[in-house]
Amino acid sequence: MDPHRKADAGESDASARRIQRLSAHLSPADLGRPCIPPQLRLLTCAAAKIEVDTEKLSLYMRGKHRESQEKVYEYFNSRPDLLNPVEISKDDHRELCMRQLLGLVREAGIRPFRLVFDDPGKYYAIMEAVGSVDISLAIKMGVQYSLWGGSVINLGTKRHRDKYFDGIDSVEYPGCFAMTELHHGSNVQGLQTVAKFDPITDEFIIDTPNDGAIKWWIGNAAVHGKFATVFARLILPTHDAQGTSDMGVHAFIVPIRDMKTHQTLPGVEIHDCGYKIGLNGVDNGALRFCSVRIPRENLLNRFGDVSRDGKYTSSLPSINKRFAAMLGELVGGRVGLAYSSVGVLKIAVTIATRYSLLRQQFGPPKQPEVSILDYQSQQHKLMPMLASTYAFHFATLHLIEKYSEMKKTHDEQLVSDVHALSAGLKAYVTSYTAKSLSVCREACGGHGYAAVNRFGSLRNDHDIFQTFEGDNTVLLQQVAADLLKQYKEKFQGGTLAVTWNYLRESMNTYLSQPNPVTARWEGKDHLRDPKFQLDAFRYRTSRLLQSVAVRLRKHTKTLGSFGAWNRCLNHLLTLGESHIESVILAKFIEAVERCPDPSSRAALKLACDLYALDRIWKDIGTYRIVDYVAPNKAKAIHKLSEYLSFQVRNVARELVDAFNLPDHVIRAPIAMHSEAYSQYTQYVGF
Ligand SMILES: Cc1cc2nc3c(=O)[nH]c(=O)nc-3n(C[C@H](O)[C@H](O)[C@H](O)COP(=O)(O)OP(=O)(O)OC[C@H]3O[C@@H](n4cnc5c(N)ncnc54)[C@H](O)[C@@H]3O)c2cc1C
Repeated sequence: MDPHRKADAGESDASARRIQRLSAHLSPADLGRPCIPPQLRLLTCAAAKIEVDTEKLSLYMRGKHRESQEKVYEYFNSRPDLLNPVEISKDDHRELCMRQLLGLVREAGIRPFRLVFDDPGKYYAIMEAVGSVDISLAIKMGVQYSLWGGSVINLGTKRHRDKYFDGIDSVEYPGCFAMTELHHGSNVQGLQTVAKFDPITDEFIIDTPNDGAIKWWIGNAAVHGKFATVFARLILPTHDAQGTSDMGVHAFIVPIRDMKTHQTLPGVEIHDCGYKIGLNGVDNGALRFCSVRIPRENLLNRFGDVSRDGKYTSSLPSINKRFAAMLGELVGGRVGLAYSSVGVLKIAVTIATRYSLLRQQFGPPKQPEVSILDYQSQQHKLMPMLASTYAFHFATLHLIEKYSEMKKTHDEQLVSDVHALSAGLKAYVTSYTAKSLSVCREACGGHGYAAVNRFGSLRNDHDIFQTFEGDNTVLLQQVAADLLKQYKEKFQGGTLAVTWNYLRESMNTYLSQPNPVTARWEGKDHLRDPKFQLDAFRYRTSRLLQSVAVRLRKHTKTLGSFGAWNRCLNHLLTLGESHIESVILAKFIEAVERCPDPSSRAALKLACDLYALDRIWKDIGTYRIVDYVAPNKAKAIHKLSEYLSFQVRNVARELVDAFNLPDHVIRAPIAMHSEAYSQYTQYVGF
């Protein structure tokens, strides 16, 4: 055999492979189309691809707030000088972030403050778009409008609105939300800062009684803030032996810097919390107060007031009720974080999916290399995540709708419903996104590790979403506590909150023994039936709820309620998560059914089925233990979810494009196409 001929053949194979690879790079529009060699097709049981109209799907997703988001993107497109460079110092980042905020408000005319109260849906859509430019900017905006501004308007009364609204809106009054202290974060009722009323001067005196009470982590405090809403125990003078009375935690407006000179005001001490893992565009600081006097009208007095002669009045009967009402008004920040976290997930999934469609590694012998998204393992990593992103999008939109309704009606039932739903969704979604960011980085191999490709900053900036606005572990317990309260009330003949309706309707059905016949059904139609999927999710929640109620009753006898709760804590957290998954699935199913465009509906149905079956499979042990799912059915669920992963892969490009993220948001070279490779190589100096 002629060795030269063999070499020629080898070279032409290599050239063919290279041409194939280059042509894939040169036609990015084809990226979503599976170009799968027959060998892989057999592995992945290829099926007919649904034709998806990305524009229609995108319209359905973005709904009425698309325009507001476009305005944000257009502004930043026109101001590349305001886009974040890859390498930036903490101080420069903070200044850039402030310039970005001022640019949006004063130059682009985007005035989000009014929307916080009048149209929260639009406000959160703007926040999502802003967060896709830089998460620090979204948080800075959230501190200014939701936290500082939100506390003034929601906890104050007309006199506060009249005095502060315009200054907050225009950022003439940059402010902080000073709740957390060095010794107390989650346990807000443990705060120690005091606000003592002085009836002689008609002032409150704000004091930090010890180092543990220093306000810590306060956004906007280190550099830019001029005011702070300070949460402190209200202390009133009394005529009894004690001399004072502690009325519980209240909120006060405290000026911290001079309006003209920006100098720190007397009695206020400010320190910088320093360089953080992420979010370095936000200037977090620490505040200590030493006999700082503020006028009586600086008490945010919606839920409790102090008269000129030092008398306390409130429409609410107890400290606990006032505290709950105050925190109830602050859930807006949590709602925003849940929604913004989905925004971060959309960016990461888009970058990872587009890269995986483009990147080719290995292939059958003497065949072109294949796209890494054609590996079952890559599909398994990314496609359920893509499906979950859609699921969370619809669930958090639902949360925003409920929140907006609550702000209008102040319906008591809705208030408690939104409180638990926002706690649960914030905890569930932010934990999921935090884990997914690492998976996406890994799915992009070494290039995922280059800072220019964004996973590092997304991961670091987003990580704290799991902690602020309520630590996730603490929030999930609130969901479980609420479910237990509803459960108890149900058995005492009470009503159930809107979100938990399913428990009223079908608790008895769910808690009866699993039907041995349906436990064996394994047909595709049955497994893709929303009724089967929802029943399975709700069955699990109902069982967890009933079993934890029994355990708590038993342990309370010996350990007391605090000890019993701690003994069952992991069980309670699982219950909280399980319930939130039921809500997410229910909202996704509704969104699929409501979708007017048949091709978008078909794509959404694929994603919804994948979300449901993947979740059931991941928790299959729970279902198997009680024979809710027989072995043959478990196997069928697994097979079908793999098949659906492949089907979703076929429309993955359209599904991520429907998120409608502009190029500068997913500017990561790996996310784009061939020209971007040259930017990437230029970036490293070629
Ligand atoms: C970047 C950043 C910005 C911030 N911005 C602000 C701001 O602008 N204003 C403000 O007031 N605060 C702010 N915070 C503070 C933030 O809200 C708190 O950090 C948060 O509430 C958690 O409190 P903690 O840090 O004291 O944690 P801890 O409450 O001490 O929690 C520590 C750990 O203990 C666990 N734990 C606590 N309680 C329980 C329980 N009951 N059951 C089981 N586990 C439990 C938690 O799960 C967690 O893992 C910010 C924090 C950061 C890092």
